[in-house]
Amino acid sequence: MTAVKVKKICCIGAGYVGGPTCAVIALKCPHIQVTIVDLNQTRVDAWNSLDYKLPIYEPGLEDVVRQARGRNLFFSTDVDKGILEADLIFVSVNTPTKKTGVGAGFAADLNYVELATRRIAAVATSSKIVVEKSTVPCRTAESMRTILEANSKPNARFDILSNPEFLAEGTAIDDLFRPDRVLIGSLQTPEGVDACASLAEVYANWVPRERILTVGLWSSELSKLAANAMLAQRISSINALSAICEATGANIDEVAHAIGYDSRVGPKFLKASVGFGGSCFQKDILNLVYLSESLHLSEIAAYWRQVVEMNEYQKRRFAKKVVDTLFNTITNKRITVLGFAFKADTGDTRESASISLVRDFLSEKAFVNIYDPKVEEAQIWQDLSEAVPGTPLEIIKKSVTICNDALSACTNAEAIVVATEWKEFRDIDWQVVYDSMNKPAFVFDGRMLLDAQKLKEIGFNVTVVGRGGRP
Ligand code: NAD
Repeated sequence: MTAVKVKKICCIGAGYVGGPTCAVIALKCPHIQVTIVDLNQTRVDAWNSLDYKLPIYEPGLEDVVRQARGRNLFFSTDVDKGILEADLIFVSVNTPTKKTGVGAGFAADLNYVELATRRIAAVATSSKIVVEKSTVPCRTAESMRTILEANSKPNARFDILSNPEFLAEGTAIDDLFRPDRVLIGSLQTPEGVDACASLAEVYANWVPRERILTVGLWSSELSKLAANAMLAQRISSINALSAICEATGANIDEVAHAIGYDSRVGPKFLKASVGFGGSCFQKDILNLVYLSESLHLSEIAAYWRQVVEMNEYQKRRFAKKVVDTLFNTITNKRITVLGFAFKADTGDTRESASISLVRDFLSEKAFVNIYDPKVEEAQIWQDLSEAVPGTPLEIIKKSVTICNDALSACTNAEAIVVATEWKEFRDIDWQVVYDSMNKPAFVFDGRMLLDAQKLKEIGFNVTVVGRGGRP
């Protein structure tokens, strides 16, 4: 066997991962035809839109798509054609969490992975390298192989690889241009090793060889869950310390700085906040919890579950701090939430801390103003109706106003909560904001974004996550 030179790639799933990842592959590999397919017509239309109103916001993404689209990058709803023509197929579909009656109560919903795999089996008539790009539980490749082999057509042959994606939303294009590493897992058979070499060859068009790591299939699958679990654990650890700082008068910035100087710990990813969000951290840890429980490792499951519980606690704790500070009641008070995306530089709201903050404020009968520079209004209404089940949207709309800019969102409010670290919030004219608010005016900085001293000088009453009240 020798490694096949990849000429045509199909990516099933044109979402936050499939879209940017394969757009960058197309940009960096002009000799490879890349077709990204999706069942969602609206999403595909947006990827093809002439005015580049792409379905997701990522700095630098539009530029990549402008250069490659129509040259060797195509977006389509014709999944079968994409599969038929490709010699390498990425499966980059969503793997949400589902509630289950078994053990931990949550597991990865592999329905989309299974449907995509069944489609590949039903359509393929030649050899294909099938690459798990989605984040999946350990040994999912085995299930995919069983499905593919049981349903394959004559002349179809499949090699399965795991190639988890480590990009972070908001920096996806930078991360893809200069990845810390590209991880490829394969079976340690001659065919598996060849398939691995074929995919490595694609990445080697721009990624230095020493950053392309090749490992066993199960290690690769588990590494993705482990990487997200470790990152989320780091945030929960610093958030746990932030609570101690607030209670003692220590400053989490100073503590993080001191800890991060230790080269074994390092300075990155040590920022306290109102809690992590995003589609991955919670889901992947719950996945690890489920895996541990199904392996009868209940203590291990409990260890990882605590990372998620700590995050939920941090979000509730921050909401409670707002209520406590506003004289123990926010009923009929207007609270402004600045930022609805789960972090800056993305329009993604999945598991955003803002959702749980707004839900808690509404449960205390407050009025809430929301402003986010990138999140669509329809998305906010959808998130809120899911967050407050049983309450009709018309009722929620009586208490929530979605605003077009930060200043109008803050006017007549009693308190401002900074929930997303959008840079533009730092650059607001805070004197004008102060003048427009009811007094006393409060700011709760859940992202350590603002100049607290300057705000205090203006007259604000300021609370910053992780900063104690005592000198
Ligand atoms: P997403 O929901 O944005 O996109 C998934 C897309 O797949 C959707 O557009 C959906 O319509 C499409 N799809 C589902 N089934 C299909 C099918 N049978 N045929 C064609 N299209 C189909 O999800 P995402 O954020 O891109 O995540 C994809 C995977 O990557 C997940 O497993 C996720 O855990 C993982 N991941 C996500 C990130 C992130 O930052 N979002 C980072 C690393 C890994």
